[in-house]
Amino acid sequence: MTLFTLPEDQIAIRDMARDFAAEKIAPHAVEWDEAKHFPVDVMREAAALGMGGIYIRDDLGGSGLARLDAALIFEALATGCPAVSAFISIHNMSAWMIDKFGSQEQRERWLPGLCTMELLASYALTEPGSGSDAAALRATARRDGDDYVLDGSKQFISGAGSSDLYVVMARTGEEGPRGISTLVVPRDAPGLSFGPNERKMGWNAQPTRQVIFDNCRVPVANRLGDEGIGFRIAMAGLDGGRLNIGACSLGGAQAALDRTLGYMSERKAFGKRLDAFQALQFRLADMATELEAARVFLYSAAAAYDRGDADTTQRCAMAKRFATDVGFKVANDALQLHGGYGYLAEYGIEKIVRDLRVHQILEGTNEIMRLIVARGLVGR
Ligand SMILES: Cc1cc2nc3c(=O)[nH]c(=O)nc-3n(C[C@H](O)[C@H](O)[C@H](O)COP(=O)(O)OP(=O)(O)OC[C@H]3O[C@@H](n4cnc5c(N)ncnc54)[C@H](O)[C@@H]3O)c2cc1C
Repeated sequence: MTLFTLPEDQIAIRDMARDFAAEKIAPHAVEWDEAKHFPVDVMREAAALGMGGIYIRDDLGGSGLARLDAALIFEALATGCPAVSAFISIHNMSAWMIDKFGSQEQRERWLPGLCTMELLASYALTEPGSGSDAAALRATARRDGDDYVLDGSKQFISGAGSSDLYVVMARTGEEGPRGISTLVVPRDAPGLSFGPNERKMGWNAQPTRQVIFDNCRVPVANRLGDEGIGFRIAMAGLDGGRLNIGACSLGGAQAALDRTLGYMSERKAFGKRLDAFQALQFRLADMATELEAARVFLYSAAAAYDRGDADTTQRCAMAKRFATDVGFKVANDALQLHGGYGYLAEYGIEKIVRDLRVHQILEGTNEIMRLIVARGLVGR
């Protein structure tokens, strides 16, 4: 990115994803939320345009794009539905972990299907007893001949029950981060089961379930990288995941702001259009300003990731914290500016607010983002 304009190819990528969101996602977003419908067919259409393996190397069907391209795509898709965009992000993150840390044999086995989204992937780190303190995880993977035998459970797993592959962090050794390994667990592995779809505030267009391992057998050949590097793999995935979640917040908030502008140009109170009140114009100005600041900031963090800057993890944490906080505030302000209608489902605003709320919690809470940033400032 040249300061501060996008080159033509990136504008084309963004417009492609934006058109897809407007045509294939936005018209159905409220209905999918209400019906708790997971639109796998539409996600496969997105994959046919290269969005199933955005930053996967291109020898096996990936698009071989950069993280800034991905941020543009997830922001654009989220203008249609943040929850759908976010699942595609989680799928891409899981596929990238296989691309980056898997052997050539593993890449060939899984990536072609993941890039078309014929296979869906989930990321399984969080457990009932460990969320923020992820290195305290307790699910075990015990070696038994050519297999691992997994026991324990994972909590809040996006896509669980529907996904075909689970990129699971499990304990194969000592306590703490160095005793963790990453295993790819297929849905049909013996001993694998799922909890009920959680009833939740937002993100209803994708399922969230517990993943339960009870003597679950997986070949040793499904381990990514060496034993003991699983926590490093998990954290590497999250740097990019956080950029994407921040981008999803930007897209959702922009959609809410755009609708608010349209609404305020028509709605009248005290004999004037709402957008003629200067107090409300100032509110709109602040919303647009903060959103643009978050956007530029997030793009610069994505560019830092693409360059491989040493402070990438901190930049991603900063951008995730800032973009998700701003995104939620802008969406919530949009609801306020719609008055009572913002609270009604059919206007689509309250859904965006509910969807964006969880971005402040998952892929590391915004408190944990501050912890990562602060560690870089004051040392451990
Ligand atoms: C809808 C949804 C989807 C999700 N999808 C996935 C998924 O696909 N895969 C997956 O692995 N996980 C997933 N998660 C889990 C998510 O990442 C965790 O919920 C999150 O990391 C927080 O963990 P926790 O819920 O256990 O909260 P806790 O860790 O118990 O934290 C509770 C509160 O304490 C704060 N806190 C904790 N420690 C500190 C500290 N040291 N300093 C300051 N504050 C602290 C937290 O910020 C939070 O406010 C999902 C969660 C939700 C809600």
